[in-house]
Amino acid sequence: MRLSVLSSGSSGNATYVECGGEGVLVDAGLSCRRLRALLALLGRTLDGVRAVLLTHGHADHTAGVASLVRECGDGLRIIAAPGVGGGPRAEAVPAGVPFRVGAFEATFFSVPHDAATYGLRLRAGGLCAALATDLGEVGEETLGWMRGAGAVVLEANHDPEWLRRGPYPARLKRRISSASGHLSNAQAAEAALALAPYGLRHLVLAHLSETNNSPARACGTVGSRLRAAGYGGVRVLASLPGRPTPWVEVEAPAGVPSCGYESRPWAGRLFGVE
Ligand SMILES: [Zn+2]
Ligand SMILES: [Zn+2]
Repeated sequence: MRLSVLSSGSSGNATYVECGGEGVLVDAGLSCRRLRALLALLGRTLDGVRAVLLTHGHADHTAGVASLVRECGDGLRIIAAPGVGGGPRAEAVPAGVPFRVGAFEATFFSVPHDAATYGLRLRAGGLCAALATDLGEVGEETLGWMRGAGAVVLEANHDPEWLRRGPYPARLKRRISSASGHLSNAQAAEAALALAPYGLRHLVLAHLSETNNSPARACGTVGSRLRAAGYGGVRVLASLPGRPTPWVEVEAPAGVPSCGYESRPWAGRLFGVE
């Protein structure tokens, strides 16, 4: 399994994940034309995309769906988490229940935001990746879904100090930093620390604000926290608007056969670190 965040931020979000030659897009917040161009940078085409999985109804996650449906026709499945929409073609699937899409077993899980929003866990061939953007906090339930993932795409929206001093109106600042707003770099770092003992190897920071954050600031904050806690081996990179990340190869957590912990929630607690 491998993935690339094609584009990330308020101007449009989409991530390409593939396994065994079959790909899915997680969110489609850019036009079909833009998605095609971004996939081409990875040597991929829309023909290889089996489905679009929609985590969130805001336009920065769904704006490209209609043009994709027109372009790709019935061969493309549109699968939406509850309350997310996605147009007349969308198959609505419940949260918390795994479903099959191509080579993947996928599960949406609810996260706190001011609109219906979900994280996504993808498993295939004993490997696991998890994605969550547009969330105000990372609670125990969210961590439970993401533990055991070798690769995680996680929101790191803002630096709290930059947001506080920045140009946004006070109401918007309150909304962003609330428990149903967006994750700060420090919150992303906390989550990374909680996931690192469970086999996290690659962390892609996503949905960075262009006003209240920078890739260097986000990676610096999260990377230094991980290194200080002895998890310097976790590779941290930031995703950008309109520029695909390098391929992230999803690896198995060392010593963990797969991420099938959910029936025994604590069975994956290998190192006694919390
Ligand atoms: Zn968003
Ligand atoms: Zn949103």
